[in-house]
Amino acid sequence: MWGNIMSDEKKPVRKKLKAAAEVSRFMAEYYYELDAASKKGKPKIAWCTSVGPAEILRAMGFLVYFPETHSAMLGATRMATELIPEANALGYSPDICSYLTADIGAFLRGVTPLSNIYKGIESIPKPDVLVFNTNQCRDVQDWFSWYGQKFKAPVLGIYTHRNVGKVTEVHVASIAKQMEALIEPLEKVSGRPFQFDELKRVVALSRECSQLWKEVLETATVKPSPLTFFDGTTLMGPAVVGRGTQKAIDVYKTLLAELKDRIKKNEGALQDERFRLYWDGMPVWGRLRAHSELFSDLKANVLASTYCNSWIFSTLDENDPFDTMAKAYTELFIVRSDSEKETYFTNMLELFKVDGVIYHDAKTCPSNTNCRYGMPQRLEQKTGIPSLIINADLNDLRLISDEQTKTNVEAFIEQLEENQT
Ligand code: SF4
Repeated sequence: MWGNIMSDEKKPVRKKLKAAAEVSRFMAEYYYELDAASKKGKPKIAWCTSVGPAEILRAMGFLVYFPETHSAMLGATRMATELIPEANALGYSPDICSYLTADIGAFLRGVTPLSNIYKGIESIPKPDVLVFNTNQCRDVQDWFSWYGQKFKAPVLGIYTHRNVGKVTEVHVASIAKQMEALIEPLEKVSGRPFQFDELKRVVALSRECSQLWKEVLETATVKPSPLTFFDGTTLMGPAVVGRGTQKAIDVYKTLLAELKDRIKKNEGALQDERFRLYWDGMPVWGRLRAHSELFSDLKANVLASTYCNSWIFSTLDENDPFDTMAKAYTELFIVRSDSEKETYFTNMLELFKVDGVIYHDAKTCPSNTNCRYGMPQRLEQKTGIPSLIINADLNDLRLISDEQTKTNVEAFIEQLEENQT
C-alpha cells in the first residue's frame, strides 16, 4: 500500500517543510540499518506488510522491512513500468497489483532504487521471515509467498475478515488469536523468547507515533492548510516503517511543531488556497510532482486523504496489546464495508472543510479504489460535494493519460469555481 519517496522532485512549487529533511534522515538511517543487518546476518530481519503486525516483530528483536515502500520507490523513480513485464512473464498478470509486479520484476532484474538513493546499498535486505496481513488485499500473500520460496524463509500470515461493518468482539478475538499464534514460529526464527513487557513497550511507542501522525494530518483542517496530501505521502515514512520506535516519535514532534508554527503565522502550504480537495485511493507515485503542480497551479490544495490516514491506529493500548492490535488492524478503512466507508468519508469531508473529492481509480489496485460501485454518486447526493474520478495507476505509467487527467482536473476546478460564484 505504501512508500517513501524523494525522487519525483524537480522544481519547488510549494514551500518545503524543514522537518522534511529530518524525515529523509530517518529513512536513510532506517535503510542503512537494514542493509548492515542483511550483510552481517544479524539482527534478524522480518518482512512485513505495511499494515501488518509490525509491533510483534519489533518486540521480538527483528528489524522490520516493508516491501511496499520499495515498490513505491520503484513507482516514484519511474523504474516500475519497464520492470512489470518481468513478473508478467512468470504468470503474474499485468492486471494485478503493480507494487507486486514491479517489485518482483526489480528483483529478477537485480535492480533497486535504494542503490541510487543510498550510496553503498546494493540490494534489498534478505528476509529471515515474512509476515503478511490480508487486511489490505490478497495480493500481499502471493507477493510474500514468492519471496519466501526465493529466500527459503518461512512465510506467516494473518487472514483478516473483509468488508467489515461494525468491528465486533468476534472479529477482534479471531485476529488476536492469529497474532498470538505467530509468537511460537517467530521465536524459532529469532532464537529468543517472546517478552510480553517488551511488546507492551513497543505498542505504547506505536500508539504515540500514531497519535502524533494523526495530529500532523489534522493540521490540514485549518484554513489555509499548512500541509498538502503530496507532502503527506513522503512525510508518512516514519509512521509506516518506524512505528514502535522512539525515533519516529521524535521526528513527528519536530514536524508537528513546524506545522503549528505555520498555523500561528497563517501560512498555508499553497500561496493561495482557493479550493480544498480530498484524495481517495493510492497516489500515482510517478506523477506526485506533476499532480502537485497541476492542482496548485489551479489554487486547489489536495490536503487530506484516506491513504495517509491509514497509519492512524488510535485503538492501540499497551495494557491490552493483542486485542487492541487486532482491533486497530481490523478497523482500517480499506477492510471496511461500503456503508462504513461512506460514514467515514462524510465525517472527513466535514472535518477538513472540503470543496471537492478526487477518486483515483487505480487499475491494478481494486482493493484501494472506491469509485467502482456508485460510492461517489451516493456521497455527492448525501453531502452535495462534487467529485472527479481519475483513471490511472499507482505504478504502471502505461495506464495513465496525463492529457486526459489535466483536462478533467481543469474542468472540475472550473465547476467548483462556478459553484463558488
Ligand atoms: S493491491 Fe493495492 S492494497 Fe494490495 S499491496 Fe497492491 S497497492 Fe497495496
